[in-house]
Amino acid sequence: MKYIPTIGVECHVQLATKTKLFSEIDNDARGKEPNSCVSPVDYALPGMLPRLNGEAIKFAIRAGRAMNCKINNYSRFDRKHYFYPDSPKGYQITQFYHPIIGEGYVELPSGTKVRVEHAHLEGDAGKLTHFDTYSLVDLNRVDTPLIEIVSMPDIHSAADARDYCKELWRLMTFAGVSYGDLYNGNMRFDVNVSIAPEGSDELGTRTETKNLNSFRSIERAVEYEIKRQTKLLEAGEKVVQETRGWNDATGETTGQRSKEEAKDYRYMPEPDLPPINLTDEFIAEESAKLPLMPADYRAKFNGHLPNDTLEILLDYPQLIAKLAEVDEFAIKKVANWFTSVLLAEENTSLLNDALPSENQLEELVTMTDKNELSSTGAKEVFIKFFDPEMHFKATREIAKELGVIQENDLGALEAIVDAVLAKPETQKAQEDYRNGEQKVIGFLVGQVMKESHGKANPSAVQEILKKKLA
Ligand code: MN
Repeated sequence: MKYIPTIGVECHVQLATKTKLFSEIDNDARGKEPNSCVSPVDYALPGMLPRLNGEAIKFAIRAGRAMNCKINNYSRFDRKHYFYPDSPKGYQITQFYHPIIGEGYVELPSGTKVRVEHAHLEGDAGKLTHFDTYSLVDLNRVDTPLIEIVSMPDIHSAADARDYCKELWRLMTFAGVSYGDLYNGNMRFDVNVSIAPEGSDELGTRTETKNLNSFRSIERAVEYEIKRQTKLLEAGEKVVQETRGWNDATGETTGQRSKEEAKDYRYMPEPDLPPINLTDEFIAEESAKLPLMPADYRAKFNGHLPNDTLEILLDYPQLIAKLAEVDEFAIKKVANWFTSVLLAEENTSLLNDALPSENQLEELVTMTDKNELSSTGAKEVFIKFFDPEMHFKATREIAKELGVIQENDLGALEAIVDAVLAKPETQKAQEDYRNGEQKVIGFLVGQVMKESHGKANPSAVQEILKKKLA
């Protein structure tokens, strides 16, 4: 029997606000001592009251609009009760009944649309680190603002699940609401997977694999679950509804807890925070702050760049923004330099930090257009834009230092050609060429290049040679 997989994704996104969701403590704990970014509100000292961070509301509006979602004028917070050592309040402040972000959709590069059911604002939990006989609690992450994005079960393959998560990452980073640092857990994905016989109206029993934080692991975990569930059903067994964990080393998911013992979170409205009432004007004002998004770039570069090149470039938000400033006719050239560096360099993080300036790029384009640089020379200069020693220098200066500026002065070139043609060791080649051996011209061009120390423009040299030998 053929089974059709159905996949839904829940994604937690850490918002890059300056301060935490309910206190005035620094929200960026990267590189800081454990428990150094914590206020009495975060560690739940009795009597402390949360105060909502307005910036988080603005970021949520932008995030929602990036996903074509309706922003709700009315939303509010609820308490979700559970005990965990990294959550001192004993409950999480989240939005259960009235989320700020309503329905919308994400369009994948393939054109497939995945509907977003809703997305809500909530505070993150702290972090536990387990050792042999003890565990350590770090509360720096407590009440970092999160939005949890809940998709509809519109995905039917592991590749689409990966593409959806990757597109979410792009939307959030392009919208500027998250650092999107996957390695540090800025975005975490839970995938719900079930399978059902082809043609069936009902969905099968689903499992939830939690806390995936790379696109590769998302694809692998979904693939694994589809295979595992298919095997069970084919053997006449049942899929158990449960939470599963992913082991990247073994490439397997393992059962963690069954949903039959699902907790009752005793949701109740958060009494310490007033509801959020947003006017249409406020929502429109914040939505207008969205910069160009992946869909805008796809439309803008359509026809100028091959799709696969464009999709690579879309992994680098600052880079593609830079590219959009480049003159339409030069886009192809500049995009090719970027992709060749991307493919050549192991560490591509450079490409989001120290990008070449508009002036540098423009001059590079002009110099190649004037044949002052060959395509190889241009690439060499381009790579130096990322060299900490060179990146601040003007294009021409870098080209000079590298000695790659081509000699285009026809008078000067002719003199060099004449000198080469006068040499005894080129006489036989000249004779062969006149006798119809066309390919010998390559040897002569090479001799001129050598004489010019590589600075002659080879196509100009060839023209001159042909004229002289005609
Ligand atoms: Mn959540």
